[in-house]
Amino acid sequence: MTNKRVFLFHEGNASMRELLGGKGADLAEMTNAGLPVPYGFTITTASCRDYYTHLGHIPLTLIDEIKAALRVIEDKSNKRFGDPSDPLLLAIRSGAVTSMPGMMDTILNLGLTDETVEGLALVTGNRRFALECYARFIQMYGHVALDIENNAFTKVLQQVNQESKVDHIGQLAEARLEELILKYKQVVLHRTKKSIPQNVEEQLIDAVRAIFRSWSNPRAKVYRKVHKIADDQGTAVSVQEMIFGNLDETSGTGVLFTRNPSTGGNEMLGEYLPAAQGEEVVSGTRTPLGITYLMQTLPAVYEQLHEAASQLEELYGDIQDIEFTIEKGQLYILQTRNARRTAQAALKAAVDYAEEGIISKEDALLRIETEHLNQLLHQSIQIREEDEIVANGLPASPGAASGQLVFDAETAESWASLGKRVILVRRETTPQDIHGVIAAEGLLTLRGGMTSHAAVVARGMGTPCVCGCEELELREETKELLCFEHTFREGDLISIDGGTGKVYSGEIELREPEISEELTRMLDWADEVKKMKVFANSDHPKDVKLARTWGAEGIGLCRTEHMFLSPSRLPLVQRVIVAGSNQERQEALQRLLPVQQSDFEQIFIEMDGLPVTIRLLDPPLHEFLPKLEVLEGRREHLNMITLDGDTDELEKVDRVIEKVKELKESNPMLGQRGARLGIVFPEIYDMQIEAIFRAALQCIHRGIKVAPEIMIPLIGHASELSVLRKLVDGVAEQVLREELKNCPYRVGTMIEIPRAALTASQIASHADFFSFGTNDLTQMTLGYSRDDAERKFLSHYVEQKILPANPFEVLDQDGVGELIRIALEQGRSIKPDLIAGICGEHAGERDSIFFCHDIGLDYVSCSPYRVPFARIAAAQAQILSLRNAADKPAVIHISTTA
Ligand code: ADP
Ligand code: MG
Ligand code: MG
Repeated sequence: MTNKRVFLFHEGNASMRELLGGKGADLAEMTNAGLPVPYGFTITTASCRDYYTHLGHIPLTLIDEIKAALRVIEDKSNKRFGDPSDPLLLAIRSGAVTSMPGMMDTILNLGLTDETVEGLALVTGNRRFALECYARFIQMYGHVALDIENNAFTKVLQQVNQESKVDHIGQLAEARLEELILKYKQVVLHRTKKSIPQNVEEQLIDAVRAIFRSWSNPRAKVYRKVHKIADDQGTAVSVQEMIFGNLDETSGTGVLFTRNPSTGGNEMLGEYLPAAQGEEVVSGTRTPLGITYLMQTLPAVYEQLHEAASQLEELYGDIQDIEFTIEKGQLYILQTRNARRTAQAALKAAVDYAEEGIISKEDALLRIETEHLNQLLHQSIQIREEDEIVANGLPASPGAASGQLVFDAETAESWASLGKRVILVRRETTPQDIHGVIAAEGLLTLRGGMTSHAAVVARGMGTPCVCGCEELELREETKELLCFEHTFREGDLISIDGGTGKVYSGEIELREPEISEELTRMLDWADEVKKMKVFANSDHPKDVKLARTWGAEGIGLCRTEHMFLSPSRLPLVQRVIVAGSNQERQEALQRLLPVQQSDFEQIFIEMDGLPVTIRLLDPPLHEFLPKLEVLEGRREHLNMITLDGDTDELEKVDRVIEKVKELKESNPMLGQRGARLGIVFPEIYDMQIEAIFRAALQCIHRGIKVAPEIMIPLIGHASELSVLRKLVDGVAEQVLREELKNCPYRVGTMIEIPRAALTASQIASHADFFSFGTNDLTQMTLGYSRDDAERKFLSHYVEQKILPANPFEVLDQDGVGELIRIALEQGRSIKPDLIAGICGEHAGERDSIFFCHDIGLDYVSCSPYRVPFARIAAAQAQILSLRNAADKPAVIHISTTA
């Protein structure tokens, strides 16, 4: 039936997230796997979308489907909805496709009325309990369905609690609860001029409507914006039998991580509250107990929970974040989702699951996300002796952060927008603080545990967080944070380490990342699987060494101009450029030669026979000379101090000024650079080529294998390459002589001008390899100069969806990609084993890497730091293409932010 809008739990499964939302799909999956899930049904996300297109109308056909499904719950539970003697009560829950914890609403204990509450009292023999449920219902219904702000109720509750000298609703006596209910009802009447509906079906339909509406509440909207979740998906609504964790001391409610979400360690971690209901564990209103409490008081239930945890991990192959409730010693699972976990935890768990045989190595590899590696490879902290620890809390989300202390989300946001780094401190955070959490570098809370709202949100965003720092005292009125002898005020510098839970006064230092054991294992698996090679772009021996440790299998781009820029070398280069005579230029070049040679030698030694692609000089010469304004300033200065003339120095400056004027171009990007320079002034290329082969010769003499690949930049016409290739071959012969046969060098070109791509078959006859310089190719294909585009219109274009993404970050497959495809096809039609790869930033971006794999490039070459990521992405590309080829169903992509 195509128009089915209501699915009983046993009619769904985990792959139906689009339709049933994450929560609904998982409830269905768990039901079918035999886990103890209270029975229910889910109303589809499509119904929610319809609700919005039909301006808030709920069609009768949907109401009929809901009623029919309700009959099934009634039969299974042996209770009737609205039955005055033994009422079935319901939980009405929201569930988006991608879970948005705490962002939408829930209504519990629905089905209670003045009449049914007495029935509940009778069957449970506990009138106090029944009244508590009724009070909770009025509050939730009043807030969610009738739009009364929650505060109106909590104020009343606080007052009643205070008068009775208790901390929470669970401790109120029967008479007090009756009073509370009366007061709640007055709030409702006063605000809405209506009473709480006494018709349970009306309650149900209004609740469904309210959950649909909660999709577009302000905090849900902000959350979606941050997490890039589409606004038009809508939420599903799950309707489920209530389980009462607040019934007695053998009941309770809790949350559980099947493994440690910070480290990935194989230990259950959770929090539990006896005699409690709903969100009490995570909201921070009562401080929960550790899960070990359950082990001590209800060991059989603990055992059952342990089994359920293992079963769920096998079902989902990932760390699960479980919500459970116990009613009179009977366990029920209310929710499971892939836990938000740190990059380390995700990685460790994936490796462990693969080794435990729960998932395949391939699936483990597919788990790794860009964000994870960013976190793994970029942040950790360096503790120094002098760093002063002022407090200890829970290590809720790893990473270190320093910043200025702020006390509320609004200040966090406004200070951050001024470019300040802030640490947000709160007693506890609520979903309303989300904009502040986003703006902050780090989060510090006084209450709440590892599963508190703050911890969950921070882990998901990779924001460092220390939770439950109870040693601190917060004075909100005066904006002061007291830790023993310290008093911090708004704006004071403070640091937190979310990996250890420590809080420091002042700033702390960051440390270079390291590759962990788990990451090494994962990268080894990636190398076993992947087809494309991963090279690095590195210009200095030091970077090359780094690239090797990150696993680079070659150097795909060594920019020789970068070797010219150090303060000791620049003057030599400048002398080459401003040389007055040929002889002067030759002399200067001869001094540059050994410097270049020694760089190349060190790089060859480091790469030990792996390919090293060296690009001959690419930028226009003026880039090596000082700016005209600077020179003129210097001239003026010299004029002043050398009245009767140290004319030598003056003459020198004049010569440089003249040269700068001569080299000035109106559009240097399209001017005299790259191959054009090499053809018009062959001396520089000549020297560079000589340095490369001399270095190679040295290595060969020392018994080190070398594989130089000489790359000519900016070729637009085959004859340019033909001329320069002759130059390379000539110098090689001269330098290498009889060692020529021991030095298998290659000559190739960057394809970065559209004409080169379109005439690649002609170019290929002079080239051993192509390297697609996707940065310039993108500039020239789109006609954008990158700097101008990024500064002026690109972000606007992306926001307005004129372009799907910044083409300098994500390869434009239809345009630039098409040129690459054409060039590759033409090139390989002439030379079937023409080697081809890309160099440039795109080589470190997932979608672009997938594209390179799919069109058959041999390698991608990215920055050394991106190498581990590129190795994983290349493996992912291979796994997915094999799976698609085998026509297996694509992997269910269970979002890890769920
Ligand atoms: P969220 O998406 O914000 O996690 P949930 O739908 O999970 O919202 O509901 C919030 C809380 O309500 C749950 O954590 C649980 O404690 C309670 N709850 C949900 N369903 C039931 C139920 N069937 N019986 C008892 N409590 C429930
Ligand atoms: Mg939940
Ligand atoms: Mg270029």
